[in-house]
Parts: sequence; C-alpha cells; structure tokens
Amino acid sequence: MTRRVYNFSAGPAAMPEPVLQRAQQELLDWHGRGMSVMEMSHRGADFGSIATKAEADLRALLGIPADYRVLFLQGGALAQNAIVPLNLLPPDGVADYLDTGHWARKSIAEAGKYGRINVAASSADAQYTYVPPQASWRLTREASYVHVTTNETIGGVEYGFIPDTGGVPLVADASSHLLSRPLDVARFGVIYAGAQKNIGPAGLTLVIVRADLTGRARRECPSVFDYAVQAQTGSMFNTPATFGIYLAGLTFEWLLAQGGLAAIERANIAKAQALYAEIDRTGFYSNPVRPSDRSRMNVPFFLRDTRLDAAFLEGAEARGLSQLKGHRAVGGMRASIYNAMPLAGVLALVDWMREFERGHG
Ligand code: PMP
Repeated sequence: MTRRVYNFSAGPAAMPEPVLQRAQQELLDWHGRGMSVMEMSHRGADFGSIATKAEADLRALLGIPADYRVLFLQGGALAQNAIVPLNLLPPDGVADYLDTGHWARKSIAEAGKYGRINVAASSADAQYTYVPPQASWRLTREASYVHVTTNETIGGVEYGFIPDTGGVPLVADASSHLLSRPLDVARFGVIYAGAQKNIGPAGLTLVIVRADLTGRARRECPSVFDYAVQAQTGSMFNTPATFGIYLAGLTFEWLLAQGGLAAIERANIAKAQALYAEIDRTGFYSNPVRPSDRSRMNVPFFLRDTRLDAAFLEGAEARGLSQLKGHRAVGGMRASIYNAMPLAGVLALVDWMREFERGHG
C-alpha cells in the first residue's frame, strides 16, 4: 500500500499528487512510444512537443509578454547568483542588492566576485523580520540592475509589492513563491527560480528574461550560462534537464486545471491565514515576522518553550505531518505550504498544534 504524508518540506517539496500519478502512468511508455521521457533524445520531435507545451502553459499561467524569453537551465538559484552578474554587470559596473535574509546574503556574496555591489537597504537590524520599505532604499542611479529576493524561504518574509526601479532592470530570485500568485512579469528584467518548490523536481532552474537583457554577457561567461545562447537554442545549447521539464510541464497543466494563479492564490491565502491565526491565537507559538511581510509559502514558528520542540516534531511525524523541523540556522519549526499542500494538510497541522498546546500549555 502506498502511504502519503503531508509534506511540509521547504524544498525539494511536495509535488501535486495528480502530477506524480500521471508521471507514474507514463513512466515506462510515454504516449505509446515504448519509452520513458527520460530515455528520449532532447532533440527529437516528442521531447520538443513536451518542452514547447511546457513553455506555452507557463506563458499562459503568468501572462508572460512576448518580448520575454523562458529558459530551462541547470545549476539552481545559487548558480543564477553568478549568472546574473555575468550576463548583466560590466566589470566596472555596479549593481544594487536588497539584503532581506539568508538567501539575499548569498546572492550578495556571490555577485561580489564579479563587480561592485551596493546594498541598498537591509533588515539585518531586526533579524530579517521585515522587508525594508522602498522609501528607505538607497539605489544607485547608474546601477546595471536591482536584485531582490522576493520570498525569503528561511526567514519567511515575502514582498507584498513590486519595487519601482525606474529604468533600471529589476532582477528577482523568486524561487520559493513563483507560481503561488499572479505576477506582473513586465515589471521585471529577470525572474529566476529553482524548480524544487512550486515548479517541479530539483535539478531544473527557470529563468524568465526580457529579450533586450540577453546578448550582454561578459566574455568569461560560460556559454551554457549565457542567456542569449540559451535563448537562441531553446535552452538546448547543452542537454537540458529533460525529465524535470516534463514534470514541470505536468505541474503547469495541473495549475491551469486548478483555475490558474488567481485561484491558486486564493487557496494559498486561505491556508496561510489558517496557520498564522493558530500561531497568533495564544502565546504558546510565535512567528517574529512583521504581519504585512509574512510569507504565504514558508511559515517559521517557534514554541515558547524550545525544550518541547522534539516532542512537537515527533508527535507531528506520528500523525503524518512530515519535515516540519526549522532550518538549522534558525531552529524551531517551519511549515512550507506550497501550491501542492492542500488546505486539509494545513488544518491537520492546526489540529495537532491545538492538541499539543492542550497537553503542554
Ligand atoms: N534562493 C532561495 C530563495 C531559496 O529558497 C533557495 C533554496 N532553498 C535558493 C536560493 C537556493 O536554491 P538552489 O539550491 O536551487 O540553488
């Protein structure tokens, strides 16, 4: 018998069950071809149709304008931390970065290898529990781009606004909330995300880049990471992560069948509200993030008495509530409630939180 738990992992994260079932059905014999998608040439017509449909469905979901290129790359979001400056930052240029937590800091450290970085604002003064309001940002007029981390997966801090950077391209690491809500892509120069939260399995990186920002790569930029090269070759300069693209495509189909991103957003709001309401109900649990900046996707929470953490997690696991342990950098608990997490899973967690509080409060 197959047993499935409610999986609260931050990533690799739970996949929509219908996607896994479809992949299972098609695993040995995709559409009567007698082979798995894993075994197909990436240059053949069959895989071509899979990749084309995946891109078309993604474009429909996000309303991606025609002058944007969609790239399916590898190396994860952390590779993009180097790839972005290699494509957009001249050696003598400057880029603005917003320092909002663990992942923003990684981006800043990596970009610093390639040029001058200006930290335009930071929330380090309050342990990264808020998004600095745009009025406080000190942007550089001649910056090549402005980089933001629109959802901090560990801190649980999410931008509720799209920054206005004038004519300077806005670059977003949207790894942990892309496809969780509608997004005005036209406000961005580059959006990138590792797939392993809301898109598909680990090993695939999604990049959405405005066409005029391709073709500027530095000489030393590896060809596989040159946005123009990958755009010209349909992300097939090298062998792409074919099975990941296939699963991402199934996930996009699933999202469209749910009613698209507006419908998914409504579901995500309901899940987040249910969980934060329970955290705030008494002082037994807490979340330190400024309420307006709380992430709908990643919800860190802490027990007043941290000595009870292990018992809380053990009881959760026994109830099929899995991978709730907080990131080692912050401790406590973290519930990642991406698109594939049903409301029933969040309500089961809320039930357990209440029961645990009754037993220990
Ligand atoms: N940025 C953010 C916001 C993330 O959540 C993660 C992964 N948790 C990363 C970057 C790193 O992604 P990857 O491991 O795919 O390089």
